[in-house]
Amino acid sequence: MRVAVFSTKPHDRRYLERANEDGAHRLSFLEPRLTAETASLAKGADAVCVFVNDTVSEEVVEQLGSQGVRLLALRSAGFNHVDLVAAEAAGIAVGRVPAYSPHAVAEHAVALILTLNRKTHRAYNRVREGNFVLDGLLGFDLNGKTVGIVGTGLIGEVVARIMTGFGCRVIAHDPAPNPTCEALGVHYLSVEQLLSQSDVISLHCPLTPATHQLIDGPALARMKRGAMLINTSRGEVIDTRAVIRGLKDGTIGSLGLDVYEEETDLFFEDLSNRIIPDDVFARLLTFPNVLITGHQAFFTEEALAAIAETTIGNVTAFERDGRPLHEVKTQAARPAE
Ligand code: NAD
Repeated sequence: MRVAVFSTKPHDRRYLERANEDGAHRLSFLEPRLTAETASLAKGADAVCVFVNDTVSEEVVEQLGSQGVRLLALRSAGFNHVDLVAAEAAGIAVGRVPAYSPHAVAEHAVALILTLNRKTHRAYNRVREGNFVLDGLLGFDLNGKTVGIVGTGLIGEVVARIMTGFGCRVIAHDPAPNPTCEALGVHYLSVEQLLSQSDVISLHCPLTPATHQLIDGPALARMKRGAMLINTSRGEVIDTRAVIRGLKDGTIGSLGLDVYEEETDLFFEDLSNRIIPDDVFARLLTFPNVLITGHQAFFTEEALAAIAETTIGNVTAFERDGRPLHEVKTQAARPAE
């Protein structure tokens, strides 16, 4: 298969070439993001391989279909950025990487929790400047605190296991409770109960119509004053403007983000010599109790190897059987919750 790989970074190339060592497929690596303007770069390709910030709208899908593309191979688990109905209409199958390393994302979420709590990001800078004052670095014991996990699928389950190990009481909200979590002692509650009881809230649900801006003004009003909020799921699960208000009035004690509503124009690029035009994002950066990483939770060696292997596996299966190994069905586009 001829595969056009959009949004290629050096690590994508390295891991995909390794997974395609036997040369079964012809991969062409393209740096631009997939958009309506760049879709024509896929001319001659049988498959298009995309990441989370590529635009796979109806317009793009139709264009790809008319160019002869028959497979969309997502290098991600999430598929909220793909118009699945349009893909089906254009005769394009969609394959994804359902599970690459839940540990990668879960461990990053825990890294955000630990950093925000013990302020190691601030301590690092202070000590390098010869400032050994402890003021402003006060944390709390995680042991005995209540951690609320929204979405206890693959990633949420690992977070539950890690936080249980810290001695936390773990509560969760999920329309489909996970028996492994229940066996760990996790209590399932309504989202309202979870918000009012948690000292730390970590979001691990997919972006769906039901979870879009799940954390909005009314949700913040239910939270324990000073609670920590962690989002490594999708930016749109929180209403960023409401969260900024919550940070200003102290409702939110600290905020850790690996994803952001408008990240498409920011993340994965070096903008250090430019002015960031997004005032909401710029405001977030001014808070000492906010820690943002640029969608790097997945970024471990194990996860990249698994993403590349599954992606090539999807392409090989499609070539052989006409279906990717991990097919995203159109009904997934229709809200179940
Ligand atoms: P998963 O499908 O295994 O688990 C998702 C869980 O969320 C399921 O148990 C589901 O029942 C639950 N859920 C669905 N709707 C819900 C709702 N309204 N409220 C509460 N829970 C709900 O997925 P996963 O592999 O654990 O990944 C979770 C999400 O993490 C992905 O959808 C993706 O958006 C995000 N993610 C982020 C990164 C990153 O690098 N930051 C990497 C991978 C995945």
